[in-house]
Amino acid sequence: MKITNVEAIYLKVPNLDAAKCDGTQDTLLIRIDTDEGITGYGEVDSSPLVAKAVVEAPASHSIAVGLKELLIGENPFEIERLWEKMFQGTIYFGRSGPALHAISGVDIALWDIIGKASNRSVSEAMGGVFRRKIKAYASSLMPDTVKEAGMLAERYAKLGYKAIKFGWGPIGKSAKHDEELVKTIREAIGDDIELMIDAGLVWDLKGAIQMANVFEKYGIFWLEEPLDAADLDGYRKLSERTSLYIAGGEQESGRLQFQRLLDSGDIDIIQPDLARCGGLTEAKKIAYMAYDRKKRIVPHAFKTGVLVAASTHFVASIPNGFMIEHTVSTSPLARDLVESPLLFKDGYIHLPETCKGLGISINKSVLDQYRVQ
Ligand code: MG
Repeated sequence: MKITNVEAIYLKVPNLDAAKCDGTQDTLLIRIDTDEGITGYGEVDSSPLVAKAVVEAPASHSIAVGLKELLIGENPFEIERLWEKMFQGTIYFGRSGPALHAISGVDIALWDIIGKASNRSVSEAMGGVFRRKIKAYASSLMPDTVKEAGMLAERYAKLGYKAIKFGWGPIGKSAKHDEELVKTIREAIGDDIELMIDAGLVWDLKGAIQMANVFEKYGIFWLEEPLDAADLDGYRKLSERTSLYIAGGEQESGRLQFQRLLDSGDIDIIQPDLARCGGLTEAKKIAYMAYDRKKRIVPHAFKTGVLVAASTHFVASIPNGFMIEHTVSTSPLARDLVESPLLFKDGYIHLPETCKGLGISINKSVLDQYRVQ
C-alpha cells in the first residue's frame, strides 16, 4: 500500500469569536489517500493555517520539508519509521509546536488507514483493548455568572454524565467568585458526580495553593493547569502541598516535554492532546512513561468527533487510561462533522467490537459547508 495524497482541510464556523477559549470553532482535518482506495482521517489542534503550511510546504532542504512531500509513495504501515522521517524532515522548523501538531494529525490518519486496511479498530491495531467502556466527562467553559454555572451543571448531570469539568472563563479574577461558582456547581450536581476545575493557567504558586485549599472542601477530583505550563518547579511544590490531583500537559508536544512534566513537575494526571502531542504513536510512548511512574492519563480533546474517536481508542489501548474528555460545545464542527460518533450512554462511551479504524465517517455536506481551504 502506498500513500497517494495528503490533504490539510481548514474548517471554520463563520461567526468565530477569537476572544473565547473554544477550540471547536475551527479545525484542521487531515485526509490521507492510498493506492488501495483506503482513506484515513486525522485532526490537528493548532493554529490551523500554520499547521496546514507544515503539511504543504515545499522542500527547502533536507531538514526543512513539508509533510506531504515526505509521505507520498510511502507505506502507511511503516508508521514508526514515517513518524521519525517526519520529525527529522522538519527539524529545522519543528521538534515541537506547529510541526508536531501537524505530525499528530497525520499520525492519527495513518492509524485510521492501518485499522481499516486490517479490519481492526485503531485500539486493537495499537496493541489491544484494555477497556471498551470509558467514562466520558462533560467539558464546559466556565460561564460568567453563578446562576448560569448552576444551570449548566444541572443540564450536564441530566444528560447522564458522571464527571463534569468547568474551565477558563472568569476563573482567577476573584477568589470569592471562584468559590461561589464551585459551591453552586457542587450543590447542583450532588456528591456522586466527579467535578474537575480547569483553571486555565491563571495563578502563581501562592494563589494556586490558596485556591486548592478552598476547592478541597468541595471534593474537586482534579485541578487542571493552575499555573503557567512552564512553571515545573511551581507544579512540584503545589503537588506537595495539596491533596487534589494536579492535571496538565495539553500545551505540550513531544515525549521529552512530558518526561519533564512527570519528573520535574510531578503532575498526577497527564493530558496529552493527540492532535498536538505527536499523535497516537507519540502518545503511547508518553502513556508508558507515565505508567512506569504510576501516573494516569486523560487525553485533552476539545475538537471534533475525529479527535474524540482517536482519544477513545487511545484510552482503550493503554493500561493507565480511565476517562476521556467530551466537549459539550454546540459548534456544528463538534456535533455534526462526524457521522457515526461512538455511542455515549449513561456517562460512558462504548467502543464497539466491530469498529474499523477510528470507526467514524465524515459528513461531506458539513465538511463542504465549513471548508475554508
Ligand atoms: Mg485544559
